[in-house]
Amino acid sequence: MTASRSARERKAAAEAGPLATVKIDVDPEKQFVYKIGCTECTAKGHRAWSAYRPGGDNGFMAAMDRWIFHLTEKHPGAEAPCLAFLPAAQQRLHERRAEGDGETKPG
Ligand SMILES: [Zn+2]
Repeated sequence: MTASRSARERKAAAEAGPLATVKIDVDPEKQFVYKIGCTECTAKGHRAWSAYRPGGDNGFMAAMDRWIFHLTEKHPGAEAPCLAFLPAAQQRLHERRAEGDGETKPG
């Protein structure tokens, strides 16, 4: 029971806003892998920023959270529908840190 990949990709891209490029791959275990890139950082010749997270809806949320934080830190003037989820993203970050799951790997 999986929504089609391209439908998810369109929905995620719409939420992530005009600066983001959203791509969804399928890994060998048939899980969706969400990849969100920043067009502005790429265009400026900075090291391309991207969030890459495997694993269905959790992966989507984790990648989108990272994207929201990237937008607020690097592109404060940018507008994107996903910024409405900033408080929820901060809450999740706080909860993950409180749980101490030790995820520190960047990107
Ligand atoms: Zn950027």
